[in-house]
Amino acid sequence: DTDDIETEILVLGAGPGGYSAAFRAADLGKSVTLVERSPMLGGVCLNVGCIPSKALLHAAKVIEDAEAMAEHGLGFAAPQIELEKLRSWKESVVEKLTGGLMALAKQRKVKVVHGAGRFAGSRELEVAGEGGTSRIRFEQAIIAAGSSPATLPFIPVDEPRILDSTGALEIADVPERLLVIGGGIIGLEMATVYHALGSQVTIVEVMDQLIPGADADLVAPLMKRIKERYAAIYLETKVTAIETGETLTVRFDGKGAPDIDQFDKVLVAVGRTPNSGALNLEAAGIAPDERGLIPVDAQLRTATPNIFAIGDIVGQPMLAHKAVHEGKIAAEVAAGKKAALDARVIPSVAYTDPEVAWVGLTENEAKAKGIAYEKAKFPWAASGRALSLGRDEGMTKTLFDPETDRILGCGIVGTNAGDLIAEATLAIEMGADAIDIAATIHPHPTLSETFAFAAEMFDGTITDLM
Ligand code: FAD
Repeated sequence: DTDDIETEILVLGAGPGGYSAAFRAADLGKSVTLVERSPMLGGVCLNVGCIPSKALLHAAKVIEDAEAMAEHGLGFAAPQIELEKLRSWKESVVEKLTGGLMALAKQRKVKVVHGAGRFAGSRELEVAGEGGTSRIRFEQAIIAAGSSPATLPFIPVDEPRILDSTGALEIADVPERLLVIGGGIIGLEMATVYHALGSQVTIVEVMDQLIPGADADLVAPLMKRIKERYAAIYLETKVTAIETGETLTVRFDGKGAPDIDQFDKVLVAVGRTPNSGALNLEAAGIAPDERGLIPVDAQLRTATPNIFAIGDIVGQPMLAHKAVHEGKIAAEVAAGKKAALDARVIPSVAYTDPEVAWVGLTENEAKAKGIAYEKAKFPWAASGRALSLGRDEGMTKTLFDPETDRILGCGIVGTNAGDLIAEATLAIEMGADAIDIAATIHPHPTLSETFAFAAEMFDGTITDLM
């Protein structure tokens, strides 16, 4: 053994959940040790998730916007894409953030230990690092070990032309023909990037719509736009086999798809699996469920009372802002504060073009659960700002409680929907009703007005658009 550490709070995994928990616990006066197997802090989100994808999506947007303006009298030459420079810019964005985390950890005297951790008991963790194995004895632990890309049984291993999201973010090259398996948020975001860079993109999704968690009317404008631009989109279709040869030969089974087609690269984006398998959780008295998720209560406590779990490893939605929120709560509970998970809603965003964002009750969910609602939809064709951006295909839809007029949910599709959904999230948390929203003066001309307009429509002030 190289090292023995005693700590009040051990945090396993330094993604958004883990670093948020570690920092909050340290701010509350606890001694904190943060264990991370990767040399970098920040987890999936900062290194191979949210942040690098958004840097590349920004590049994609610049290309798309420039092309769109050509029709309106502002033409540019075709983009000159220097992949190496684009990659290093993306990496510099990531490094600023991960380096910042190191500094924040140091400032708070959070001890960072690099190595893969596994439990040796309910108060002890073994960490296999470069210099050997260290033992960490802790009073309380917060498991934040996150998730990894899921795969499919027939996917050939060690085939460099078959990528997961991490491989896709490396943009090693721009394949001529790219197949994206999975029409969820991650698959569609990477499709957006590769399409803008010049790939012919095909998407295959087993469900009957893209982004299956969102209402169909929200996804429709996105579907319409990419259908015109992408090589093909196959819904209710499965990939059943991939054969590797000079190209990748892919077999499909489903509606509208050919039996067989050729691709240069394939991105597998079919969901994420929790990283619970390697943690030796049994030693800590914790049994993950059949999907590998760790069951927790509203205080994020596992079956072992001094151990908490947060973020992707406890389940859906696998989103960074959920992990951060849970991390803070677990740290507060561990530090003896009265805290519990009490968020009414967690927003979801697909940073596609157009963006699709939703929060709270969806119509799908309301119908499935028999929840009464009334809706107001404001089409962006009537928004001055949307028209002046040359993007009027968007829509803001708000669901209200017919009895109390309170907002229950909101869905937005269009440019910057991801930023716009924050206001609806706050409105739901505050218990706002239609008048609260409609009577709030919104800056003109902005897309944020569409949220107020939808509330006015519900309230009856605007009727001609319904
Ligand atoms: P993770 O970020 O997975 O971090 C877990 C950490 O634990 C990792 O650093 C891992 O190395 C470490 N670890 C695991 N096992 C061990 C061990 N045994 N010992 C030591 N360390 C260990 N979410 C959003 O909200 N917005 C987005 O725009 C968004 N975009 C995404 C884009 C992509 C391409 C992907 C893949 C994901 C995206 N996500 C996004 C999801 C987001 O990245 C995750 O929800 C978030 O990172 C989960 O945080 P976490 O702290 O639970 O775990």
